[in-house]
Amino acid sequence: MKQDNNSLIHRKRLTIAGACSAESRAQLLEVARGVAATGRVDILRAGVWKPRTKPGSFEGAGDVALEWLAEAKELTGLPTATEVATAAHVEKALKSGVDLLWIGARTTSNPFSVQEIAEALRGTEVPILVKNPTTADAELWIGAVERLAKCGVRNIGLIHRGFAGINLSGYRNAPLWQIALDVRRRLPELPMLCDPSHICGNRTALLDVAQKAADLDYSGLIIESHPHPDEALSDAEQQITPAELGRLLESIVWRRTATDSIVCNDELERLRGTIDRLDEEIFSLLARRMEVSDEIGRLKLRNNLTILQSGRWQEVVTKVLTTTDRLGLGRNCVESILEAIHLESIERQNKIMH
Ligand code: PEP
Ligand code: MN
Repeated sequence: MKQDNNSLIHRKRLTIAGACSAESRAQLLEVARGVAATGRVDILRAGVWKPRTKPGSFEGAGDVALEWLAEAKELTGLPTATEVATAAHVEKALKSGVDLLWIGARTTSNPFSVQEIAEALRGTEVPILVKNPTTADAELWIGAVERLAKCGVRNIGLIHRGFAGINLSGYRNAPLWQIALDVRRRLPELPMLCDPSHICGNRTALLDVAQKAADLDYSGLIIESHPHPDEALSDAEQQITPAELGRLLESIVWRRTATDSIVCNDELERLRGTIDRLDEEIFSLLARRMEVSDEIGRLKLRNNLTILQSGRWQEVVTKVLTTTDRLGLGRNCVESILEAIHLESIERQNKIMH
């Protein structure tokens, strides 16, 4: 995928902050001044057109807010960003000088809308960030990126804002970090920002999530801020004042991804070599386990037995968990590995049977 590496979105530790929604000229200018004063924000965000779950909620101030954004840029010198969901939004935002656009989670979920936006962006240089779709579907997220790339868009980035409808206590949208990491592995040339505000849905967990993103080497953050968060017309629970934002950004520790220390690099290399050898052992053992399982499949076929004998599987799980509890391995990890192994065994035995 051809990407322009000089674009604004490739800045290391890029920080976008500002209001969930542009509510009024006064609110937007106040938040703009506040986030600029932190000295740690690169781009001002504000939702001009807001996709709301229920009708009757505040849907953003609309077109007029583009003038306020332009004024905020003039006032603070910060480039601006807003969400687009239609071709008309793209055209209006570009015409009024918005510097960066993003596609919201609900829009990423709809290929027709993404296609329309992609066509509208053809021939422009504006950077566009694609939020993950609301459902835990990496393909839909990557599909949206591909639609943009096919229209020649060369400044694409990603925003991980968590996934809806998954009941993980403490989060409004479950982070499911593994999905985001998988997408990063598959689209390594695209920067990925984390959106702790929409993942958390509250103020208290913001720092934890932002720190986790920093530790996972995300390229930046997008965080919502409001001069009077309790009075915000959208996402009040998760917004923080610019002063709180400044303190939060100050307390995030961004670690190095590499070091010049020869001692450290030698030790890392040695340990990684050990990991590589262990992985080889683990998967050789797994292959041997599958061969035994195939043998069982053939035995079942000769004796007309069902593939799944649930009592037996429960016995395997109990035995393994007794061992792994003793070894101090986390149950979530062991259970997902066992499930994957079980599914593969069943699939192989199924092939033998038919
Ligand atoms: C937003 O950034 O304010 C927004 C609507 O986010 P999402 O699309 O992630 O819900
Ligand atoms: Mn919001």
